[in-house]
Amino acid sequence: MIVILEPNIQKDSKEFKKIEDFISNFPKVNIKIIEIEGETRSVCEIHLIGSTHNIPQDVLESMRGVEKVVRVSTKYRQIGRHDIDIVPVGFDYQGLHFDQDSFHIIAGLCAVDTPEYVEAIFSCLKGLGIETARMGAYKPRTSPYDFQGHGRDCLCWLFELAGKYGIRLIAMEVLKESHIEEIYEELERAGRPTGVMLQIGTRNAQNFELLKAVGSQKEFPVLYKRGMGLTLEESLNACEYVASEGNRNIIFCLRGVKSHLGAPHRNMVDFAHVPVVKRLTRLPVCIDPSHSIGGKDTSPEGLFDISTASSQGVIAGANVILVECHPDPEGALCDGPQALTLEELEQFVEDMNIVREAFLKRKDALSRFKMKGLAE
Ligand code: PEP
Ligand code: MN
Repeated sequence: MIVILEPNIQKDSKEFKKIEDFISNFPKVNIKIIEIEGETRSVCEIHLIGSTHNIPQDVLESMRGVEKVVRVSTKYRQIGRHDIDIVPVGFDYQGLHFDQDSFHIIAGLCAVDTPEYVEAIFSCLKGLGIETARMGAYKPRTSPYDFQGHGRDCLCWLFELAGKYGIRLIAMEVLKESHIEEIYEELERAGRPTGVMLQIGTRNAQNFELLKAVGSQKEFPVLYKRGMGLTLEESLNACEYVASEGNRNIIFCLRGVKSHLGAPHRNMVDFAHVPVVKRLTRLPVCIDPSHSIGGKDTSPEGLFDISTASSQGVIAGANVILVECHPDPEGALCDGPQALTLEELEQFVEDMNIVREAFLKRKDALSRFKMKGLAE
């Protein structure tokens, strides 16, 4: 059960105390207080865990300071929407805002290789007005003999270069808890010229200890990637681990799922799930067309399958695109075949902005249509 308080009701108010006293009449019910700080609105919620079936919802709902009481029907209680008609507030990081209405493109290397290539990408992103990059330092590879990433060694110069080009955030996968500490220390050493979003890769989608580790720190937001062989429900429950530890600054990323059907794409594109995740959760939703498609085949019109798949996610309301590029894809140490060149990235960004406009027009047209219906 979740008790959503009115916007002005804080933890130290009289109203809060009364609600808390009322709940304390019910044994075997634990409470967890969740405060969500949004740009336009802050929400305080009391989550009731345990034997809540005896608690009269109507009495609780009639108490002063209570906006709404919902019985939680799904397991992912913190990231879930639970049919509540409240604005999912999202989060701010490094002066950037992320919610279910925002739109960002996070582009860059699959794996950090040389400072020259990194600088070429940051410079290109700056030219495109993009302040969000992806850069893998710790790489989970299928073969132990493949390049595993430069790890800690590249972080300091990577962060310094990011600062030089006005990059505010770098999405970076972590494979174990100590990587979070390494990132923190190297960011400090570099003088905090940028920020980091901790990425949970698809292979770790159910690594519960790692999920708890990224969830129990609040310094960095988290980009959680759906498990490639998991149902959506299983991935949402796993993602809940992050929130349940206290960190609610999460983006949920769709990246295609494994299918026995194989070719033509690396994975089966699951971007039709964008509106589903937005409906089921309060999280901004990201799509990763690079790992979904895995190659650079084009349509007869010359459009990359990567761009077309990405368009499918954006037209459905995706909030973030995570895409790989490389100044010299053939020389890339990881995932070269799916990396856009910097020229192709420029075209990709223009293409995605066209589709984003179309999505906003779809939303507009729908609300005009609804208004007309109301007026009639
Ligand atoms: C990545 O984005 O660097 C990556 C390895 O993706 P995934 O975990 O989705 O395979
Ligand atoms: Mn990759």
